[in-house]
Amino acid sequence: MELMPDFVLHRPTSIEEAVKLRNETDGALYVAGGTDMIVNVRRGIEQPAALIDLSVVSELREIVEDDEGLHIGAGVTLETVSQDTRVLKHFTAVAEAAAAVAGPTHQAYGTVGGNLCLDTRCLFYNQSEWWRKSNDYCLKKNGTVCHVAPGGKHCFAAFSGDVAPAALVHNAEVDLVGPNGRRRVPLADIYHNDGMDHLAFEPGELLAVLHLPKSEASMPSAYEKARVRGSIDFPLAGAAVWVKQSGDKIEELRIALTAVNPYPHLIKGLEKFSGTELNDGALDEIAEMVQSQAKPMLTTTVKPWYRRRVIGAIARRLTKQLSNTT
Ligand SMILES: Cc1cc2nc3c(=O)[nH]c(=O)nc-3n(C[C@H](O)[C@H](O)[C@H](O)COP(=O)(O)OP(=O)(O)OC[C@H]3O[C@@H](n4cnc5c(N)ncnc54)[C@H](O)[C@@H]3O)c2cc1C
Ligand code: SF4
Repeated sequence: MELMPDFVLHRPTSIEEAVKLRNETDGALYVAGGTDMIVNVRRGIEQPAALIDLSVVSELREIVEDDEGLHIGAGVTLETVSQDTRVLKHFTAVAEAAAAVAGPTHQAYGTVGGNLCLDTRCLFYNQSEWWRKSNDYCLKKNGTVCHVAPGGKHCFAAFSGDVAPAALVHNAEVDLVGPNGRRRVPLADIYHNDGMDHLAFEPGELLAVLHLPKSEASMPSAYEKARVRGSIDFPLAGAAVWVKQSGDKIEELRIALTAVNPYPHLIKGLEKFSGTELNDGALDEIAEMVQSQAKPMLTTTVKPWYRRRVIGAIARRLTKQLSNTT
């Protein structure tokens, strides 16, 4: 870790002020709980001239419930989300994912917005300045070569936030606020398959609200991840599952993955199981589909083949478990 560098800290009290400061200050970045950003600053990965601290923007710290659903401000902490009875009951995967992030102290400071906007991760990137320098850096920051796939020009750093896949299976939407106003988009639309630039934001946009629609509520959902140390680590592979059943048959099934692609990936092609019974054959096929759409690369100390096998097993197990609860 490097010493903390100099930067200007702004502490706006409204979303509009935060967006204005971010867009009118050269080299400014947002910081919420700071549990990832400050580590990246200390490692020289981020070198902001200014940080726009979102922690005292009260509008970002509210959870509002109405006929449409639950609207969680981006500044709400993961601890609050994981303990909120409405999230636990109606959007179980989201509560489980928030409770699975790092450890309790990170959850007390880390926010929903920071988790959804988390930078992608790689063994060759999340290192100190001297480590990266002595390896000639890499494509994602200051270098010319990708050490994971040296011949190419694509970065495979993995999106490793826990909450995004859980929110995706609940068909979540988000509000983005930028210099040109506010827009509401499906959560899936804010991500790109590019480890170097995985967020499809307009310059300076701020994520303000996570919307969880009531129409999706109360269907069983769950989230599970594999990690090196159960007490603290990022996912090596994580999956969220949402199932709507009618009797013994699947009406609709949704599965989303994290940590195995540069973006949180919603599994494609699951509609083929609508109207079918969830027997062992179907569960095996689901596991195979998940394994084939997961594209882990050598971005962690754990081998890609293992993460691919694990993600299939987690998705299969959760799907079976949820179908038994209805
Ligand atoms: C030891 C350790 C273990 C960790 N383990 C996990 C883990 O298991 N799972 C996991 O998901 N994360 C993990 N993290 C990362 C981090 O703690 C969490 O992802 C946390 O939710 C980040 O939220 P934050 O509010 O602290 O974000 P910050 O660190 O403040 O910001 C993170 C990023 O989001 C941007 N940002 C923040 N808020 C907004 C907003 N409203 N709009 C636009 N951009 C925004 C920031 O500019 C920054 O790029 C870990 C971190 C550490 C240090
Ligand atoms: S995948 Fe390649 S370019 Fe991306 S962070 Fe890792 S080494 Fe760097």
